[in-house]
Amino acid sequence: MAFDSLSEKLQNVFKNLRSKGRLTEADVKAALREVKMALLEADVNFKVVKGFIKDVQERAIGQDVMNGLNPGQMVIKIVNEELIRLMGSETTEIKLQPGSAITVIMMAGLQGAGKTTTTAKLAGKFKLKGKKPLLVACDVYRPAAIKQLEINGEKQGVEVFSMGNKNKPADIAKAAMEHAAKNGNNIVILDTAGRLHIDEDMMAELQEIKEAVTVHQTILVVDAMTGQDAVNVASSFNDKIGIDGVIVTKLDGDTRGGAALSIKAVTGRPILYVGMGEKLSDLEQFYPDRMASRILG
Ligand code: GDP
Repeated sequence: MAFDSLSEKLQNVFKNLRSKGRLTEADVKAALREVKMALLEADVNFKVVKGFIKDVQERAIGQDVMNGLNPGQMVIKIVNEELIRLMGSETTEIKLQPGSAITVIMMAGLQGAGKTTTTAKLAGKFKLKGKKPLLVACDVYRPAAIKQLEINGEKQGVEVFSMGNKNKPADIAKAAMEHAAKNGNNIVILDTAGRLHIDEDMMAELQEIKEAVTVHQTILVVDAMTGQDAVNVASSFNDKIGIDGVIVTKLDGDTRGGAALSIKAVTGRPILYVGMGEKLSDLEQFYPDRMASRILG
């Protein structure tokens, strides 16, 4: 990766400082300047960084340096703990309906974010847990989307429901619910259409689907490589249609993943999974502590 390790940088800062036994204000401030730069470099939202630095500063100044640690390590320890806290501390599972009731999950996101791929990846996870998911092709605009979902569904051994591209997504979703009830599916995952940018038609269409069927979980798929944009996208979707959780894709790429940190802080919605590659098995549960280590480097 093209970043210097923050841990190394902090060790250098502290070489010239005199914190002994206790973290002084001057030392903490000097160290946090480096932390701030590192977080901004890792694509963490500016406002999030500001609030974060303030919190860490309050916690760190005057703290005793623990036995066996030097001041730099002590600051890193506090920063790490606060990063984890900011991301929600724990992994979050997708909430399913109790008993044999059907859970309806609507996937949303901009075109190219990885929505169709992630839909099939998720179906595989549910299948492993003994569920019987049905994938529904509601992306009627992108010519290859239906075919792509069908191919991926087949690879996963999961049924795909499609009605071509002549029907409205809301009607397809409704028909899919009838099919699922007859067919014994207990999870229905709707793959909706994205657009290149946030646009009113797209939001209206998602809203229409939500009015046509009861959606239990709306999951937004965002591309980690788009950095700050991913955070803006998450904010917009959350404001317009309401989201329950986020899946961040392409974290296998060369990005520190600061977007992941900001998304939770800005929208209050948890990250559920992360996409780690193009293969259908490349979907991992989100662990805040691992992400903190990645951001700190
Ligand atoms: P959609 O337009 O949002 O439905 O996006 P697609 O599912 O078609 O994905 C767009 C591209 O991103 C495809 O080439 C996928 O293989 C790729 N992709 C999706 N998720 C990941 C991921 O986690 N890592 C990588 N490297 N590529 C991904």
